[in-house]
Formats: sequence, C-alpha cells, structure tokens
Amino acid sequence: MKIYLDTIGCRLNQAEIEHMARGFRAAGHEIVASAELAEMAVVNTCAVTNDAVSVSRGKIRQIARAGVNDIVATGCWTTLQPQGLLQLPNVTRVIPNDRKDHLVADVLNLQPETFDLEPLTRVPLPGLHRRTRAFIKAQDGCNNQCTFCITTVARGEARSRTVADVIQEIQFALDGGAKEIVLTGVHLGSWGYDLDSHLAELIKAILRNTDVPRLRLSSLEPWDLHADFFSLWDSSTSLRAGSRLMPHLHLPLQAGSDSTLKRMRRNTTTSSFRELIHSAREMIPDVAITTDIIAGFPGETDDEFAETLDFVNEMNFAGGHVFTYSPRPGTGAAKMKGQIQPEARKKRNHILHEALEESAKSYREKFIGQTMSVLWESTSEMGEHGWQMEGFTENYLRAQAFAESPRWNEIDRVALTDCESNQLRGEILDEEKLYVRTTH
Ligand code: SF4
Repeated sequence: MKIYLDTIGCRLNQAEIEHMARGFRAAGHEIVASAELAEMAVVNTCAVTNDAVSVSRGKIRQIARAGVNDIVATGCWTTLQPQGLLQLPNVTRVIPNDRKDHLVADVLNLQPETFDLEPLTRVPLPGLHRRTRAFIKAQDGCNNQCTFCITTVARGEARSRTVADVIQEIQFALDGGAKEIVLTGVHLGSWGYDLDSHLAELIKAILRNTDVPRLRLSSLEPWDLHADFFSLWDSSTSLRAGSRLMPHLHLPLQAGSDSTLKRMRRNTTTSSFRELIHSAREMIPDVAITTDIIAGFPGETDDEFAETLDFVNEMNFAGGHVFTYSPRPGTGAAKMKGQIQPEARKKRNHILHEALEESAKSYREKFIGQTMSVLWESTSEMGEHGWQMEGFTENYLRAQAFAESPRWNEIDRVALTDCESNQLRGEILDEEKLYVRTTH
C-alpha cells in the first residue's frame, strides 16, 4: 500500500511518524511524498493551541481533497476531542495517544510482534517532512500541571523509554546515514524518574555506546537541571562530549514575573532560572540558550508584563518563541479570572518578540569571523552560482553557503563572514572536496 504520513506540532510528533514509517516499511508498505500518491494517510495531530487544532483540521481536509479515502487520525487532538475528528471527511479511524505506539499493528490488523523492525535502518521521510536530523523519542507524558498546558492532559503520565530502546533507535538512524540525533519527549528532563535514573545517564550511555557525531537535546524544563548537568559538555572527558553534545539549551521560561509563574504553576522562579543560566554559561562556552514565553497570561498586570520584559532583556537569550496565550478547554488557566483582551495579548507578544529578536541578533553576530561546523539541511540549485546550502551550526544558528555540488546531510567547516536577517553566511572550508565560492 502507498501510505502518506503527516504531522503537526512538536518534534515528538515528528519522531513518532518517523517511527511509524519504519513500521509500515517493515510490513512491506511504501511511504510516499504526497497525499496525491497515497492510498492511505496517517495524520499526527496537535492541540497545544487553537491554531494547532485548525491546522490539523485543515491538513485532514486537504488530504481528503487529494483523493485519499482512508485517513487515520492520531495525536493530541484525537485524544482530547475524538468526536471532532470523526466528523471530518474520509477519517476512517481515530487512534488516541495511548494506542499510538501500536498504530501500525492496529491499522494493518497485525500482531505487533509479527513484523520485526530489524535490520531496517532509518530512511528520511520523503517530501515536506524530509529531515537530515533524526528525532528520537526518549520520553512521553508529563506529571506536572502547568495551568496553561493541555499537552499534559493529552499525553498522560510521564514515562521513559529504556536506554536500550533509545540506543537501538539511534543506531537505526545512524545506520541510515543520520548525522544528528535530536532527543525529544513531552518532558524530556524527567527522563529516568520512573527508572530511578536521570537524563544525564541516558546522554552518557548514548555518547558511550554510539558514534553519534551530533547529539542535540530538545526542550528541557529548568527545574529538572542542576549545575552539574552542564559538566556533560566538558570536552576533556573520554566521551568527547564537548564536541558531540550540541551547545544549545532550550529552556522554556514562560514568564519573567514570579507572581505570573505562580499562577502558571511553573516549578521555577526568576532567581533559580537566573542561577541556572549563569551556571550553564560558565560551564559551556558560547552556549545558545533559547526559550519559550507566553504573552498575555490571565491576570497579567502591566507591572507583571514589565517584569517579564525586563527579565527577558536581562537573560539575553539567543532566540526563542513567544506564544500569545490561548485558552485551552480543560486547563486551569482557561477558568481563571482576568482574561486579557486578545488585542492586548497580541501587542505584548509583539513587544516580547522584538526583545528576543534583538538579543538573538547580537548573539548571532558574535560568530562572524569564526569558523563553525554546519550540517546542511537543504540544497537549492543556483545555476552558474552552483548550489546554495542552508543548515544549522552546533549552537543552532542558521547558516548559508555556496558549493559546486549539493551537500545535503554533510557536515562542513564554514568560515562565517556576515549575517543577513536571521541567517549567517560563509564559505565552506574544505579545499580538497570543493570549489569554494564566496557568498554573494
Ligand atoms: S512541564 Fe508543564 S508545560 Fe511542560 S508538558 Fe508538563 S505540564 Fe506541560
């Protein structure tokens, strides 16, 4: 059967459809690049905001219009509102999150053990979701109750995959040619709490038991980390972690006012967050610290907003996302008094976004004149100019360069020469292999 896989939202959703792709291929089916080519489709939906639900709905309608009569819907939206999905065209099955690991077997009506994933290496998904980086699910669910968060409702209790399972999946990806592994989860920092262990042990095990060239961590809640966690980046250890563990930490702040953090039921304060950032910057040279912030949380006074803005400026982040507060039915915050007018929320989002962009720009510009490794993610032919490559440095900065031949999924040393909008530009330094062309 020709199967099209689509996903909305987080890296965990991406990791899950990559896992499904391997299951369908192991059972002898073909993963196709677009719905037009497919006999069946699986859509991994998202419900983190109202917008995410609309995008999920839109994708399913689009796939139905493309002629697919057998659409399987899964993911957070299906778990929260299964009825909503069944009303959409050509949706034949709705599989909630707690059955997602068995989706391939359920859909193909097979016993999970009847098809074996060995020795199926990872093959990047065709089409839009083609990635050089392999997203690997290490953990699912969350035991926290942040009052704005619907994910903890949709994904259930926190649970960790075993070290062996995670390393096996990483090895599949490396055997399939992946040069970067991104560890992901709903609450990645809580990995191991149910195994009497800690995320640091998983990272050490991965670096010890695989040759992963680049290991990146996705979002980490600040309260799961302590200063000694950053010693993992110490390049003098036998694990050569310093060069293989990417110097990039995404630590959601959500608000820079302690009274707002309290109403959000965030297990952190501005002073403990400040201390953590300070330790990270002390122990990991040039570390990129990015974040998430919610603008217009219920009850946020002008003073609280000013505190958040000041704190964001003080933290000098390397970038991040600002989300306009979106009331999600089933969360504590949706029932709170003092809901902020949508216009005011948007205005606060804009101001915070500007502040983050300012500090991101100065962080980026620090690296002009330096040489960094870049993993090329996309290539586009530029006629007489050769090939334009775009990718990410180790500290997750976008970079662009030209070369005579396409270098998708290659890692090159790049001399960074300048910066245009949010992208660094440079020259690939590898004389033997390439004809080097300066940027335009
Ligand atoms: S830590 Fe908070 S924001 Fe993160 S998944 Fe859990 S409840 Fe949601």
